[in-house]
Amino acid sequence: MGITVGVDIGGTRTRVALFREGTLIAREAFPTEGLPEVVAAIRKLLAARGAERPDTIGVGAPAPLDMRRGVILNCPNLPHWSGVRVVEELERAFSCPVYLANDATCAAIGELEYGHRARDFVYITWSTGIGGGIVAGGRVLWGKSGQAGEVGHMVLLPNGPHCRCGKRGCLEALASGTGIARAARERLHRELTAAQVVELARNGDPGALSIVLQACQALGQGIAILWEIFEPEIIVLGGGLTNSWDYLGPYVLEAAARMARSEPRVELTPLGDDVGLYGAEALPRHYPSGLLPT
Ligand SMILES: [Zn+2]
Repeated sequence: MGITVGVDIGGTRTRVALFREGTLIAREAFPTEGLPEVVAAIRKLLAARGAERPDTIGVGAPAPLDMRRGVILNCPNLPHWSGVRVVEELERAFSCPVYLANDATCAAIGELEYGHRARDFVYITWSTGIGGGIVAGGRVLWGKSGQAGEVGHMVLLPNGPHCRCGKRGCLEALASGTGIARAARERLHRELTAAQVVELARNGDPGALSIVLQACQALGQGIAILWEIFEPEIIVLGGGLTNSWDYLGPYVLEAAARMARSEPRVELTPLGDDVGLYGAEALPRHYPSGLLPT
């Protein structure tokens, strides 16, 4: 096995890493721009190791995307990536197979290969948005077009707050960083980040506390539903909001335990911010043959 590449395109930062036999050997992170910057970063990392081309490249990107065409579709978080033919352009640049998938699904694959390595689990990204990936019997659940696992868009509160998907009361609208910041704007009349709202709540601000409790309640409800449907060994969480898990976790777990028939086992990913990068590296080994680019 030679060198493989993982790319994790995020709303604000892009990470690129080289792996040799599953070990991360070099990495680069930079503010998200366009595909040329990704190509340049891969070239730089390869050149530093005297390598010309990798065996494979896996790319995780925020949904929506067309896996069969290897194209990022209309993406609200990455407007200038809409229509970019990621697979075709990277294959041309590096003459190796390239695979593209949803970033949260990639994170689940990272957990499967490099994290807790459970055979049955649900991975949830709790961050600016809420995404997910489902692994059953050691296999990723892809769905008919690769969009399975969008746990953020289950409706928990009909007629609740608007979600960026166009519906109302989705888990993402209730519990994501964006949802928390918007609740602060509407109810506290202040422009705050989700992290700032959490800190205010931690320091006893009653308005911030009620927003945080609602978010944790919604996430706990989502976890309880997934726990009942999939009967996983564990539910794994990652994403920026889990940095405050010491404070938020007990609220989430209390809600989840109250709404599930048995107490859900919830763990944070041991891979931290790198979970999507590891998953992108492992993506080629889990890619569904029915969705290979044509
Ligand atoms: Zn939604």
